[in-house]
Parts: sequence; C-alpha cells; structure tokens
Amino acid sequence: MKITEAQAVNHSTPIGNLFSHERVISTFESDVLLEEVLNHFSTYSTDVVIIVDQALSIGILTLKDMIRAINDSNNLSRPVKEFMTAPLHTFYSNMSIADVLDTMNDARYEKIVVTHDTDELVGVIDRRHLLALCYTQLTPLIKHEYNMIQSMMGLVGEGERKLLKMATTDTLTGIGNRRLLEEVFNAHQHLGERYGINVYLLMFDIDDFKSINDTYGHNIGDAVLKTLTEIVSKSIRKSDIFIRWGGEEFAILLRNSDSINVLKIAEQIRARIETHCFEKNVHVTCSFGLTSVNIGDTLEGVIERADQALYQAKKDGKNTVRAEIV
Ligand code: GH3
Ligand code: MG
Ligand code: MG
Repeated sequence: MKITEAQAVNHSTPIGNLFSHERVISTFESDVLLEEVLNHFSTYSTDVVIIVDQALSIGILTLKDMIRAINDSNNLSRPVKEFMTAPLHTFYSNMSIADVLDTMNDARYEKIVVTHDTDELVGVIDRRHLLALCYTQLTPLIKHEYNMIQSMMGLVGEGERKLLKMATTDTLTGIGNRRLLEEVFNAHQHLGERYGINVYLLMFDIDDFKSINDTYGHNIGDAVLKTLTEIVSKSIRKSDIFIRWGGEEFAILLRNSDSINVLKIAEQIRARIETHCFEKNVHVTCSFGLTSVNIGDTLEGVIERADQALYQAKKDGKNTVRAEIV
C-alpha cells in the first residue's frame, strides 16, 4: 500500500490524506477467474484489488488472500469472488482519522476501503497500519511540543534560567508555585486543543490543617507539607504540572483521555494520603476538586470551577473528590 508517510498526521486529519493521489486501485468483476487477477498482481506488483459486481464494490482481494488461494492450483480457474474478503466497509475520504479509528474499533473492522463521496476509490487500509501511522507520527509531535514547554526556560541564558527557576519554585516543598502554573497553562491548553487531548485541573486542600499546626507545631506542619508533595509526585506522571497554589492548597494540571481516569487518579492520591503515617504518627486527609480545561477558558475561570468542586468536597464532609466538568 502506498501511503504518504512523510506528511504530518493528527487525529483530525482526513483519512483520504493518507493516500498518495497517483495511485489507482484496480477493480475486477466478481466472476473474473483468479488467474487473471494473479497476472495483474504480478504485472503491476500491486498488493490489493477491489472486486465489483455491476459497478458496486463488494469486496477486496489482498496479496495475502492471493497467496493463500494459489496454494491450490485448481483455484486459478475459479471466480475471484470465492477468495475475496467481504463485506466491504467503506468510508468517505473526508472523515477524520479519529472517527475512522473509533468506528473500526466499535465494529471490529480490520480493513476498510476509503472512497471519495463520488464513490471513486481512494485506497484500502487496515487498522494496524492506521494505528501505527498515528502513533509513530503523533507521539513525537506531542513529545516535541512538550519538550518545548519544558525547556521554555532554556531559551534564556544560564543566569536568567536560575532566576526563572527560583521564581517558579516553591521554596518549602521544591515543587512549582502559582507562577509556574500561570506560565505553562496556555501552552497546555493549546496542545490539548491541537491534538484533541483533554486537559484537567485537580485542586486539593489539606483538611483541618490548622489543628495539625496547633497540636504539633508549625515545624511538624511544614514536614507534613513536604512529605505530602513527595507522595503526590510519585502518584502522577512527570509530564503533569504539580504546584503549591498557596498555604496548604495544591493544584495539578494534567492531560488524560477522560475525566473518569482523572477521577481514578484523584481517588488514588486521596487514599494514599489518608493511609500514610506522617512524622509523630500524624494522619491527614485532603479534599479534592476536579475540573476540565476547555477551549477559551482562562486560568482564573478554571481555578474558580475547581475551587467550587473543592468547596463541595469540604461541604460533603471532607476527605473526598468532587468534580465540576463542563
Ligand atoms: P479546612 O479543612 O477547611 O481546609 O480547614 P483548615 O484548617 O485546613 O483551613 P484553614 O484555612 O482554616 O487553615 C489553613 C492552615 O494552614 C492555617 C495555616 O497556618 C496553615 N498553613 C498555611 N501555610 C502553611 C505553611 O507553610 N506551613 C505550615 N506549617 N502551616 C501552614
Ligand atoms: Mg485546609
Ligand atoms: Mg485552605
């Protein structure tokens, strides 16, 4: 199959763009003998033909089908329709790769035929090939752009980089601070939009932290804050942005497939904190508020929504996760 591998592909690329336009896929009537099709395969070194019945595409015959069929030389004098793969699953060339993959997954199609809306054939592709193409082209793109965000500070000189690092780091815990979230928010939102990846903000606040300070002293309170950030850091990906929003309140900006997954992660973090035994046998819990980052959202708007969900978690008795997804 001739596919234009070089061009950039993302999930919203029309499926038709994957095929080189010079390529013509031959068609054969279903009653044609296998031998005739075999001659075509060897003359044009092609690997697929479409089988038609009164101009209607009804199946395909691939090189693999052909090799299997010619194991028995008697088959050469039989009609090609006996060896083709049918029925034919046809998709229009302007459909996005994401929609094609979804449909192929849902219907368990292994192979599909792509046509223009005039029914003119564009190409044939199997699910494995399509997935491989998406993954090989999409992953480096995402990595590349992510590295750009990560090395944003690398664009400036060593001295300024240290200053920027200091300005975006929380001194007590060593994780990012509010300023870091402000710096990276737009870039993450943009990446999410561009690649159709969902971005979420998870905020959490330690429950009754004042009484920890009052009972054990400020130093133990500080130690709890430090250990807590270590526990959370281990529960999230390196690509997630974990910051101390202020006091005993934290936020994580993360990319994930859907809110159910993020809720699972939040629940895991909640349980890990609840079961951890901190210094001096101190136990703490946290309340969580989750929201999605949507196109056109400002950071202030997103924080406000996450805060509302967090407020709801406090109202519902603390040590729990609430979401405000729009
Ligand atoms: P709630 O469950 O409603 O969140 O109650 P809370 O006691 O956690 O909330 P409140 O806002 O009343 O108190 C927050 C406390 O967090 C008070 C403040 O002294 C403490 N705190 C904020 N920053 C730090 C810090 O850097 N170190 C220590 N040890 N304590 C801090
Ligand atoms: Mg609190
Ligand atoms: Mg608070």
